[in-house]
Amino acid sequence: MKKILLIVLSIIILGCKNDKKEDGKAEILNIVTTTSMITDLVKNIGGDMVNVQGLMGAGVDPHLYKASEGDVSKLFNADVIFYNGLHLEGKLVEVFEKMEGKKETVALGEFLPKDQLIGSEYFASNYDPHVWFNIEFFKKFAIEVTRVLSEKDPKNASQYAANEKAYLIKLDVLQAEVKNTIAKLPEEKRILVTAHDAFNYFGKAYGFNVVGLQGLSTATEAGVQDVQKLSNFIIDNKVKAIFIESSVPRRTIEALQAAVLSKNHEVTIGGSLYSDALGDAGSIEGTYLGMFRYNVSVIVNALK
Ligand code: ZN
Repeated sequence: MKKILLIVLSIIILGCKNDKKEDGKAEILNIVTTTSMITDLVKNIGGDMVNVQGLMGAGVDPHLYKASEGDVSKLFNADVIFYNGLHLEGKLVEVFEKMEGKKETVALGEFLPKDQLIGSEYFASNYDPHVWFNIEFFKKFAIEVTRVLSEKDPKNASQYAANEKAYLIKLDVLQAEVKNTIAKLPEEKRILVTAHDAFNYFGKAYGFNVVGLQGLSTATEAGVQDVQKLSNFIIDNKVKAIFIESSVPRRTIEALQAAVLSKNHEVTIGGSLYSDALGDAGSIEGTYLGMFRYNVSVIVNALK
């Protein structure tokens, strides 16, 4: 009898222990992120101290992305939500606004110095939201993520700070490498024609003239007139290559190439760039660092 009682007691105690672990909200932070760039960043800073769920995978266009029912429940169960903001996630703005005050929502783009942002009449934010293409801005994202995680989970603050330090060094190494590679491309060849205007911050940082066929958001379609105008620009400036983007259908850039060819000039498709989403999770281009290196090598090789 005593033995049975002991077994029953130990089952109850063990059971309770397990419950606590599974419930474990206080033990591990549940983070929800939007774009794959932000997902990668939070994983770098949070390591195995946080559980990160990214809503948008490879090839997903954040301008057009709508929250599914599953996403809404992920968002409501999150301890912190990190997103780009500046109206990049155009169709999620309402969802985030509803959660303000009830949830810790962090729009990383809102912490950047406004006088350094590129203005835009298109977005309700009045700024171009593609800020991650400025490595210095992405460093500011990293600092902000570290601050929020440390506040929410102070017992792991020193580990978050160590991860932050290591990641900022990697971003500095990336910056030096990118500058070095682009320095080999003559300035007059630094013209970047892509499917939509995601690369304005990249252009500003490294001296490229950037032209996007669809404007700043993929929500607007390119018209026939845009294609004609841009094909003349390509011919006049002897642009060797134009680029498709992994998160935008390739037909617009193919139409542009056809327009140039029809005028008896040549332009190649220089490759596919990662603009508003990283590559497949688990691949080198599935990280911010790998994506940046890949883009720069594709651009420089095609235009040199
Ligand atoms: Zn975009």
